[in-house]
Amino acid sequence: MADAPRFKKDYPGKQITLRQDAPEDRCGLFIAGATARIDRRVKARDTMLGPWSLPGDQDAWWLRLNLRCPHCGHTHEAFVPEAWIAQGLIVFLDEE
Ligand SMILES: [Zn+2]
Repeated sequence: MADAPRFKKDYPGKQITLRQDAPEDRCGLFIAGATARIDRRVKARDTMLGPWSLPGDQDAWWLRLNLRCPHCGHTHEAFVPEAWIAQGLIVFLDEE
């Protein structure tokens, strides 16, 4: 385990483990205990017109996660609230 990066701009690219199932997950892989990579930070409002619009406070920040699927080999995506970092529901892993 490692501390969260000091700057939010440094979140993308980091490996994390989830302590709770991702609320926005269409493939069911982003469950408690799963390790994924932070792909980018996104504001809910910016997904409004896209294929995957995030619910709730449109000013809230989310993290788009991805991971390589063990079943089909493709990269899948899910979203978790960025607030989960402060709540301890997202744990940063040491860089290899
Ligand atoms: Zn798959």
